[in-house]
Amino acid sequence: MYQAPRGTRDFTPEEMQKRQYVEENIRSTFQSFGYQEIQTPTFENLKLFTAKSGETIIDEIYSFTDKGGRDLALRPELTAPVIRFYVDKLQMRPKPLKLFYFGNCYRYDRPQKGRYREFRQAGCEIIGVDTPEAYAELIALSYTILEKLGLKNIQLNIGNLRILDCLFKKYKLTKKQQKYITPLIDKSQYTDLQDALKDFNLSDKNSKEFIEALQLSNINKLQGYIEINGNIEKEISKQKQIMNLLRDSFDIKNYHFKLGIVRGLDYYTDIVFEIEAPELGAEKQLCGGGGYELIRLFGGKETPTAGFAIGFDRTILALETEGYIFPTSRLDAYVIPVNKEMISKSLQIAQQLRKQGCIIDVDLMRRGIGKSLKYANSRNSKKAIIVGPDELKQNSVTIRDMETGEQKLVEIKNILEYIK
Ligand code: AMP
Repeated sequence: MYQAPRGTRDFTPEEMQKRQYVEENIRSTFQSFGYQEIQTPTFENLKLFTAKSGETIIDEIYSFTDKGGRDLALRPELTAPVIRFYVDKLQMRPKPLKLFYFGNCYRYDRPQKGRYREFRQAGCEIIGVDTPEAYAELIALSYTILEKLGLKNIQLNIGNLRILDCLFKKYKLTKKQQKYITPLIDKSQYTDLQDALKDFNLSDKNSKEFIEALQLSNINKLQGYIEINGNIEKEISKQKQIMNLLRDSFDIKNYHFKLGIVRGLDYYTDIVFEIEAPELGAEKQLCGGGGYELIRLFGGKETPTAGFAIGFDRTILALETEGYIFPTSRLDAYVIPVNKEMISKSLQIAQQLRKQGCIIDVDLMRRGIGKSLKYANSRNSKKAIIVGPDELKQNSVTIRDMETGEQKLVEIKNILEYIK
């Protein structure tokens, strides 16, 4: 017996129904904010990802050499491909350019609940604007997507890497030291962080203050921890404007300022944000995003960029954990020919109804009525249309309501009224 590769999954029709619902819902929210959908290839030149993240990324991704000797990689994320596409073909488009996408991503991760080697992301990039209102709208979009899907228990945290950098500078942490402690900050591992800061010769008092600053949720208390002047004053004011717009214009009140949001330091530049579903435990992060700089690296003309990615699979897990009832798509009717002579007419009736927008299946196995009704039931069909010779003589069929068992003789030309 063959099995799907480690970290990949097969999806049943029922699971695909949920995934389709989620995808369509997300698509319509993106569109309602003026975003346009794009698509990029599943594999890219490996260089695209090493240019962005360094050679060490090779350990974390699926890379291979094709028969022509090209070094390629299955995409581990979509921001680099989208910016490559932008630099190559979309730079001349009017700004801001608002793009969204869905795509499977591949990472050589250690699989566990909510962490797979093949997973799906929904994401977007906004190119050419970095006003506070642009950031507020971007963050509001991510939150609105999850809220509109029906999630109740989500938490939005917003940080700022320029302000965090100020804190790093205050304690004279080198780039290498910053890189070392970033994952500890990201995972809120404060005991390990304290040990690391001690190794970096920070006094107990300083390391306590450093960790307190990371956990601050009130931006107005920052002045107790960092010196506020010049550019940083502007950055804090921008951060406050974004948060005020979220509250006053987008009616999103459930957010926290959190300096300890780091994401990848090399790539994000200023505002960073995350949305988590606390009920999911270890893999609770549903969405991550912020402002970043990649265009220049890929040879394009510098312009502001920001975006986010939502983990499609974790979003579904979060909805399931909250007991969300997904809408199910049902058959409107199952058409049953009572004998071989009725097959042609049955197929014709099914096809006519499909053309009129109904979801119709028809018996293709020449089974008796009893078995066919059982099958219709298992497919959750609302109605059964029984096509028999006596009824046909009167240009009619029998329509059975699968819930009540009630049956009615209905003229063929009137079927639609009875099943819609
Ligand atoms: P990232 O590109 O790492 O910022 O991830 C964006 C989102 O994708 C995360 O918030 C997760 O919801 C989701 N995600 C990342 N890695 C995985 C994975 N291995 N399996 C499932 N979802 C993932």
